[in-house]
Amino acid sequence: MQLCRFNDDRLGLVQGDEILDVSSALQVLPAVTYPLPRHDPLIVHLDAVRAEVTRLAANGNRLTRHRLSDVRLLAPVANPGKVVAAPVNYLKHLEEARQDKGIHHQNQIGEIQRVGLFLKATSSVEGPSATLKIAKPDRRNDHEIELVAIIGKGGKDIAKEDALSHIAAYCIGLDMTVRGPEERSMRKSPDGYTVLGPWLTTADEIEDVHALELKIQVNGEVRQHANTRDLVLNVADLIVMASSFYTLHPGDVIMTGTPEGVSQVFPGDKMRAEITGLGRMDVNIAAE
Ligand code: MN
Repeated sequence: MQLCRFNDDRLGLVQGDEILDVSSALQVLPAVTYPLPRHDPLIVHLDAVRAEVTRLAANGNRLTRHRLSDVRLLAPVANPGKVVAAPVNYLKHLEEARQDKGIHHQNQIGEIQRVGLFLKATSSVEGPSATLKIAKPDRRNDHEIELVAIIGKGGKDIAKEDALSHIAAYCIGLDMTVRGPEERSMRKSPDGYTVLGPWLTTADEIEDVHALELKIQVNGEVRQHANTRDLVLNVADLIVMASSFYTLHPGDVIMTGTPEGVSQVFPGDKMRAEITGLGRMDVNIAAE
């Protein structure tokens, strides 16, 4: 099942190039009280929401239909507790990063097995329809397309053989980056610099997450084109590593790292990102 969030926090069932407004399925979510949970309420109750969406869609002629091109797509996870991200997790990107001073800025680029993972501010999360505003126009700002796993079942010290069963869904991510000497967590956390979309695709729809093609074009020119089979630490490894340090909660998102081909973007550029089975999203860039 592919579910999007759109317009004014509506919930949509994606059907080809249309969406069915299934917002009333959100009524199955229990009321949230203070203190707020550490999980995303939609993701933790995704099975119940899916059942209700299926029931509603069976009587679909009473629901509103929209063309996908007519709606504003929001990030499929509204309240991720953490945005976990993998630095340099494709070998060819490691080579590229070490050779290009514009990428490494005298920062040591280490192997992911040694340097581990980093976190991005959750306030940086945006949907594809929000125009991305360049945060530091005097710096190099790059696109990084990444496969994103959305945690469905939380856990600490998750075993590798169980790891993929903790994933509720996948989506496309753009780990937008200001290059420079600062820590990654700062350079990759300006508002809007974590683009998630175009919708979530439940994990049961993805036969082999380690055989997905990723591609991003800027103004129609292909910049990154790779396959998740070339991940250094695969998706299960990343869950093992992350959960060995901290508890993962439903709705936490894991950005699995970007392949070679990162490059600078400028105001006015149009990005088109796609991953096999997860859809395609267009993101426009503007000046701050
Ligand atoms: Mn990245």
